[in-house]
Amino acid sequence: MFGPAPLARTWGVKLNMQVPAPVEYERATSLTEVFDLLERYGPESRVIAGGHSLLPMMKIRLARPEVLIDINDLTELDYIRIDGGELRIGAMVRHATLMSSPLAGEYYPIFAEAEAVIADPIVRNRGTVGGSLCQADPAEDLSAVFAALKATVVISGKSSSRTVPISEFHTGPYTTVVGPEEILTEVRVHLRANAGSAYEKVERRLGDWAIAAVGAMVRIEGGLIVEAGIGLAAVRAEHYSAPEAEQILVGSAPSDELVERAASLAGEHCNPSADQRGPVDYKRHLVKELTTRALKRSISRALPEGA
Ligand SMILES: Cc1cc2nc3c(=O)[nH]c(=O)nc-3n(C[C@H](O)[C@H](O)[C@H](O)COP(=O)(O)OP(=O)(O)OC[C@H]3O[C@@H](n4cnc5c(N)ncnc54)[C@H](O)[C@@H]3O)c2cc1C
Repeated sequence: MFGPAPLARTWGVKLNMQVPAPVEYERATSLTEVFDLLERYGPESRVIAGGHSLLPMMKIRLARPEVLIDINDLTELDYIRIDGGELRIGAMVRHATLMSSPLAGEYYPIFAEAEAVIADPIVRNRGTVGGSLCQADPAEDLSAVFAALKATVVISGKSSSRTVPISEFHTGPYTTVVGPEEILTEVRVHLRANAGSAYEKVERRLGDWAIAAVGAMVRIEGGLIVEAGIGLAAVRAEHYSAPEAEQILVGSAPSDELVERAASLAGEHCNPSADQRGPVDYKRHLVKELTTRALKRSISRALPEGA
């Protein structure tokens, strides 16, 4: 189960003493230039955003691109706005920006709750939404958040763009459907009335990756849950989601018993592995407990005050 980043995390101290292999460097100032550079340098080139995942992988030679294409000047991808009934988040939005965005927070408090427990201020000031999703680390918090929110991502290439549901974006640990001459440009989240969301994470110490983390979203109409999303990080849930738990919630009135049944399903259907963060049973227990907490808070946020 260990992919490059868990290994990097395990051996972090030694890795910090290493240096990446020599690499060419290009700095793009527009999307057009990014696509031209990707075309010119081919599959041995990689875009670099915050660099907080790519550079550690390069240090231990798990990633060895010949050319880095720096996209930090792409201010055209640094926005959070409402458009077409959706919250639209550009790929170059930094973790810190999303954490403190009043617009994102107004609709979805899950963003601020998740971002507050991602790494530390240094990583959050630099790491990006696009980099997080494209890194596709199984413990990536934002992947669980966007799975819970049933987001759509926009992938762009030189001559066309396509939208992909988040449930089809990740093809496995560290892999996505983004092609060699494409980049992720935007994430879209449908704006929902009467919805609530929340994020829960247990980590060994402040700023660490999750032992387990759960994001939840519910929409309630006429006293019934009409839409539910549950995203899981660090427990090898397929596509970071818990469809069995989501299904049992939809169509029922919210209750403690219903939440407990959904939380049990989430714990049973994920696939955690034993590692330095704990044994399998402990991680399943965490998923159940964190799902319960995240769902309860989401439900209370979705219900009108006093209900
Ligand atoms: C000490 C430390 C602790 C951390 N803790 C956590 C944590 O608790 N939770 C968590 O979720 N994350 C954590 N992270 C990861 C952090 O969130 C990174 O910011 C994130 O993984 C990658 O974002 P980035 O912008 O730095 O991407 P980069 O490192 O620049 O890129 C990562 C990958 O994505 C690709 N890429 C980047 N942008 C795009 C794009 N727009 N389109 C296509 N491909 C793209 C790159 O080519 C590369 O393959 C931690 C990182 C560090 C260093």
